Amino acid sequence: MKQKKIHFSIWYFIVAMGVLMLFQYFFLAQQQATISYSEFKALVREGRVEDLLIARDSIRGKLSPGAAETLAKMRAGEKDKTAVAQLAKEKTFYSVRMEDPDLIKELEANRIKFTAQPEMTWLTTLLSWVVPIFIFVAIWGYFLRRMRTGAEGGFMAIGKSKAKVYVEDETKITFEDVAGVDEAVEELKEVIEFLRNPARFQSLGGKIPKGVLLVGPPGTGKTLLAKAVAGEAKVPFLSLSGSSFVEMFVGVGAARVRDLFAQAEEKAPCIIFIDEIDALGKARGISPVSGVDEREQTLTQLLSELDGFDTKKGVIIMAATNRPEILDQALLRAGRFDRHVLVDRPDLKGREAILKVHVRKVKIAPDVDVKVISARTVGMVGADLANVVNEAALLAARNNKSQVEMSDFEEAIDRVMAGLEKKSRLITRKEKEIVACHEAGHALVAMSLPQADPVHRVSIIPRGIAALGYMLQLPTEDRYLMTKSELMDKITVLLGGRGSEEINFKEVSTGAQNDLLKAADIARSMVTEYGMSEALGPLTFGRERRPLFLDVMLPQSKEYSEETARQIDDEVRKLINSCYERAKEILTEKKEKLDMLSKLLLEKEVVEGEELKRLVA
Ligand code: ADP
Ligand code: MG
Ligand code: ZN
Repeated sequence: MKQKKIHFSIWYFIVAMGVLMLFQYFFLAQQQATISYSEFKALVREGRVEDLLIARDSIRGKLSPGAAETLAKMRAGEKDKTAVAQLAKEKTFYSVRMEDPDLIKELEANRIKFTAQPEMTWLTTLLSWVVPIFIFVAIWGYFLRRMRTGAEGGFMAIGKSKAKVYVEDETKITFEDVAGVDEAVEELKEVIEFLRNPARFQSLGGKIPKGVLLVGPPGTGKTLLAKAVAGEAKVPFLSLSGSSFVEMFVGVGAARVRDLFAQAEEKAPCIIFIDEIDALGKARGISPVSGVDEREQTLTQLLSELDGFDTKKGVIIMAATNRPEILDQALLRAGRFDRHVLVDRPDLKGREAILKVHVRKVKIAPDVDVKVISARTVGMVGADLANVVNEAALLAARNNKSQVEMSDFEEAIDRVMAGLEKKSRLITRKEKEIVACHEAGHALVAMSLPQADPVHRVSIIPRGIAALGYMLQLPTEDRYLMTKSELMDKITVLLGGRGSEEINFKEVSTGAQNDLLKAADIARSMVTEYGMSEALGPLTFGRERRPLFLDVMLPQSKEYSEETARQIDDEVRKLINSCYERAKEILTEKKEKLDMLSKLLLEKEVVEGEELKRLVA
């Protein structure tokens, strides 16, 4: 509304200016004759002008009786008779002044009264000074107001965290909605007990955790868990994201923290939840980027609020992060976020439980087996699984099914796992042959090794960004331990693709790059981390300094000599070579089967596990 008003007043101004100009044009100009300088001089000579006002470049004055006749005579040749007739009515005149040094003398000779006009009248002063200032102020005010009423609370709302604190008086989420993280749930039960009845806890003298830090990879349900705690305890849930504390104005974040805790005190018992606390709680002095001062100040404020806060009031502070290793040590100290709850990736059973939670919300066909879906989604977290179920429901809806069938889930998993099928992508016949031969190699090697995971499906339908085809192995359960021979088999399977290409085409393609990378990774880990090489013995080299839940590797500092480094390289090479030889051996031995499988793949593009077994047997 305010915006509109301003808008109108600018229009008023424009209209007023227009009216003024029209007024001047019609009212003033009507009675004024605009005459040329020569006409003016003629009138002067005849003494038919009076009361001259001489400005720097204009002359105005009154026309004496008879002036009109003189002018009419001078303009006799003109065609426009009405304009000439008009002259008789006009009382004043206006002429442009020219360089004419003798003008004054002439005026004096003809006894004409004249005055000079000062350079600036009050009107010109007004126009050249006041009006621009007025316009400027109006525009400035307009933008200021926009800023104030704009999105995100705007300019003037800084320091008031109320807009950004997300308060839920009842989250309506319970532990029923969270599955597969039973250990975390167990640990949080105590917190709920306390929130339900803070007085009883205090009378017993129990020590209550002040801050609980949920640690785990993204999408494992940390936010969900925090909400569930609030829901179970039936207390308000005040949540805020760590990044929203970090503002461009120094001191604003600190003000927000203060405000947040003040609000919590009013609502106690309640839960304060700071999501992604790493944005705020990064160890001080690590980042060279600007804005650090503000963050430090905010963090310091948070620390002091944490210390000054009395748990007796029944406020529990929870926070979540997936990068605990970068948090400031001060945050993790006793009396602050000293209780750490690990929310890990779910295992086979956990995934099954999570799937059951999400499947409840959709209509599923009787053929859907949650166990199989769970087995096929190794490595997925809760958020991915929720995505799979949702995607499957969408697929079923698109195909006008009344229930979500197993095939929908299969496709949904493929989509979530490897991105959308790129059906439109064009591959040449030759490329397709190579891919078929490559994938057949993987599959055949995997099926020939007793320790390798069973093959679920081979496909040469391109997927994701880089993969032209894929072979899917289905681990029967999640693995926590692997033996040396199992790892070797894994490498052998990975190299089976390239081996098959070499046998069939007598040359290799670029398609095996990813396989080689993975194989080299495993081999190197076997030598340097697991102590699985005979030449080097049971030693590990280079301490792991990988961030806990990040996939990037920090550069590792070497803790061994160049000589050892060369030995490691030799060992890795030996491992890989022996696996590669083994893969080729298997494939040459079963060349017939390999050719059959490649042909079948070329034809059908996808071959399922059952069919593979029949073919190979
Ligand atoms: P995080 O905060 O750890 O990144 P979220 O709590 O935001 O993960 O999870 C996102 C979504 O994924 C949730 O809303 C929920 O639908 C689903 N989800 C994640 N973990 C679980 C779980 N353990 N049980 C049920 N659903 C889950
Ligand atoms: Mg989250
Ligand atoms: Zn491959």
